[in-house]
Amino acid sequence: MDLAPNPDSPPSEDFMNTSPQAPSSSGAGASSSSSAPSPSRYESQKRRDWNTFGQYLKNHRPPLSLERCSGAHVLEFLRYLDQFGKTKVHTQMCPFYGHPNPPAPCPCPLRQAWGSLDALIGRLRAAYEENGGRPETNPFGARAVRLYLREVRDIQSKARGISYEKKKRKKPPSDGEQPPPAAGLA
Ligand SMILES: [Zn+2]
Repeated sequence: MDLAPNPDSPPSEDFMNTSPQAPSSSGAGASSSSSAPSPSRYESQKRRDWNTFGQYLKNHRPPLSLERCSGAHVLEFLRYLDQFGKTKVHTQMCPFYGHPNPPAPCPCPLRQAWGSLDALIGRLRAAYEENGGRPETNPFGARAVRLYLREVRDIQSKARGISYEKKKRKKPPSDGEQPPPAAGLA
């Protein structure tokens, strides 16, 4: 396994943490008034992810162009990202396998959480087409990638690698979302 193309410069980890350090968008200084349509968090995240992937391609040995990029390369990329992961995924040998809150540390590897990878692929898939890629050749939509994600989800949920089930975000109650209370409430 010789995946890390350039161990000296890990990809910007910030596709994981959403610190809003906008890279000084030009001209935003003085006139950041109400009318400035700040790109949504999703959009800026997507741009960052796309840059990270571009960086990965650039550092790839042998060099890899976007046009030649296949689903297999996307998988390579995802596995490469695992070294920066923060989600403990217990192996089946581990006594804490299946244990949601292990009482002690264990040497199981840290991985990218399934939810992060899934969201990442979604953003990259969109970015690919926004950058001129054709849907038919979109490597992020490759079957192998879908299967891989499914497998990761399966493994992580069995291992209870935490964070698979995110804490429920507080949602403003919106019509239709809430299951109706048990019948009988007038
Ligand atoms: Zn473990």
